[in-house]
Amino acid sequence: MRRPLIAGNWKMNGTKADAEELIRSIIAGVFEMRKVDVAVCPPFPYLFIAEQMLAGTAIGWGSQDVSREEGGAFTGQVSAAMLKDFGCRYAIVGHSERRQFNGETDAIIGRKYAQAMASGVVPILCVGETLEEREQGKTEEVVASHIDGVLNLAGVEAYGHGVVAYEPVWAIGTGVTATPDQAQEVHAFLRERIANKNKEIAEGLRILYGGSMKPGNAAELIGQPDIDGGLIGGASLKAADFVAICQAGEDNA
Ligand code: PEP
Repeated sequence: MRRPLIAGNWKMNGTKADAEELIRSIIAGVFEMRKVDVAVCPPFPYLFIAEQMLAGTAIGWGSQDVSREEGGAFTGQVSAAMLKDFGCRYAIVGHSERRQFNGETDAIIGRKYAQAMASGVVPILCVGETLEEREQGKTEEVVASHIDGVLNLAGVEAYGHGVVAYEPVWAIGTGVTATPDQAQEVHAFLRERIANKNKEIAEGLRILYGGSMKPGNAAELIGQPDIDGGLIGGASLKAADFVAICQAGEDNA
């Protein structure tokens, strides 16, 4: 049985005071949940708030990106070892916004995944198709290439150390959510692709859904057999919504 994970991707939002308030409310809201893993991914400068407030709780914290390099003269970048040093449990890699606005390719993202893994930080690999790609019937081809970026570089064993998030680009921040059937179909395809290389690793891999997940649709999505939680954008900035989604994870565990 895979343990559900609900992770909040705050993106580039909020102030230091907002971060403190949000974390305080999340701690209070998920305090009694035992069966779901919960994590927040604040912007880099606010990771120290997560570290200070969440140390000693069951809630993990993570980054929204990580350098593909190990260290050295790479101005503006943050290494996986630094994240580990800072207590980060997770690092999101390959978010569609980074693919779109920062030109990240599957090869670059594969290296980021490998760096996180090598430092003992759990990479959360985002995969997903655009609306145009879906309409052209290319969904499986696109998500397969996203999955293969890691497979080609680090082998199937890499999926024994990470998490995958299926995030259809057309559902991110749009208010349009994939139907549970649409999401389940892609999740099953992703798991099958990894199972072709190693069944046990595929069975243990957590595959989250991301894309306008809200309290109103979380339970049905997480109730699908291959959906093991959520990567939450907009709704992770509202404590009550995020906690309600965590509760859906807890109830489905
Ligand atoms: C995301 O960007 O990872 C995401 C899932 O965003 P939203 O929930 O706002 O669609």
